[in-house]
Amino acid sequence: MPKFKCSNSKPPEEFWKVQPTLVKFEQKMKVAESMKSRMGRPKYESLWEISHINHQRSRYIYDMFHKKRMITRPTYDWLLNHKYGDAELIAKWRKQGYENLCCLQCIERSDANRTCICRVPKSIETQQNPACKSCGCQGCASSD
Ligand SMILES: [Zn+2]
Ligand SMILES: [Zn+2]
Repeated sequence: MPKFKCSNSKPPEEFWKVQPTLVKFEQKMKVAESMKSRMGRPKYESLWEISHINHQRSRYIYDMFHKKRMITRPTYDWLLNHKYGDAELIAKWRKQGYENLCCLQCIERSDANRTCICRVPKSIETQQNPACKSCGCQGCASSD
């Protein structure tokens, strides 16, 4: 779990670098949340959408720090502490074999011997419809 620093709630100076993109994600998230209660729409569609936005937003922060090095460690920590990205999901991406992991639900199933379908490399894929139930991911094994 990330340590939450209460004294450090003011946005860091570098926040402007990521703010426009984060605002866009926030707007997308609001739309997705409002669609959840819409009649006639399958519930899983909204859940997948929210999961997808959450994934993209975390990936953006991850890239900004680990790949592009556009933001510094304190800014990165601040963003994660303030839930702009999913720190637990990002921690998994740092591990070999989990670089593309779509969501935590896919690896945190109670029945441990049932790997989510999207974690199976495509080469040995036999299912007709490989989308996973928790986020709609169609494949996030590192070899894909
Ligand atoms: Zn997946
Ligand atoms: Zn998933």
